[in-house]
Amino acid sequence: MANICVIGSSSMDLVVTSSKRPGAGETVLGESFKTVPGGKGANQAVAAARLGASVSMIGRVGDDHFGEAILNNFRANQVSVDYVEPVTDMESGTAHIVLAEGDNSIVVVKAANDEVTPAYIDQAVQAITAADMVLIQQEIPEETVEHVSRICAEHGVPLLLNPAPARPVKDEVIENAAYITPNQHEAAIMFGEGRVSEALRRYPNKLFITEGSSGVRYFDGQEEVVIPSYKVEAVDTTGAGDTFNAAFAVALAEGKPIADSVRFANRAASLSVMKFGAQGGMPTRQEVEENL
Ligand code: ADP
Repeated sequence: MANICVIGSSSMDLVVTSSKRPGAGETVLGESFKTVPGGKGANQAVAAARLGASVSMIGRVGDDHFGEAILNNFRANQVSVDYVEPVTDMESGTAHIVLAEGDNSIVVVKAANDEVTPAYIDQAVQAITAADMVLIQQEIPEETVEHVSRICAEHGVPLLLNPAPARPVKDEVIENAAYITPNQHEAAIMFGEGRVSEALRRYPNKLFITEGSSGVRYFDGQEEVVIPSYKVEAVDTTGAGDTFNAAFAVALAEGKPIADSVRFANRAASLSVMKFGAQGGMPTRQEVEENL
């Protein structure tokens, strides 16, 4: 069983559907409301646990009702919350999502996720050094990602950086990471539009660009390779990247070869887009293996 440590955000998504999007100063009546646990860190932790890994989450929630619900969701999915400490007098991270007129508008409030600081990481180093793989994203402070990358390099723990949401990443972090998995948009922000091919060659078997329904592109040391996605009836691609990253981390941590790990992750992500919701569609190990 792979031991995965996920360091990142957790939040509660507050989702409203409405036939009309309100303009400035306007009030409209919505049709439905639901709360759904999310955040890239939490999504990836849940996905990795469903795929059979032993998962330890390092993150923060608020001392509010959402924080309790987020913790309960981790527990229900067998994710260890020993290193998810509520922040006193602070709200949990939330995403306020309006689904209207065939599109979404989202306001994200990071709140407790900004308290995943380098000092907080220092209290959780045990979870990092015990891991076969550390998985991190960018919904927490930049200096924390840098700090974690140094700890991983120092202790020889492989780090998988999913550089989402997009922001420029320091060379030091790129060097310290074992695997980096931007989508096409994130890759263009990291390396510059038109310079992605060059970056692929510079980072063989390290940089993996996910290209949605087309596949995953990387340089294997000899040539550029594209491992195609599985063709499925996609109903909701929210969380496809999160499932991909978790599955890729699990497969690599189990010692699967790179191309097989990409295929495993592509299969897991393709199953996730066939159902609604980020966590809702995340498959179990058995579902992925039956469909490989
Ligand atoms: P993100 O969700 O981060 O934007 P992508 O859109 O590149 O990332 O999707 C991540 C992975 O999810 C892809 O590499 C692929 O394996 C899978 N995936 C995404 N969309 C589809 C789709 N429509 N059909 C099949 N697989 C998909």
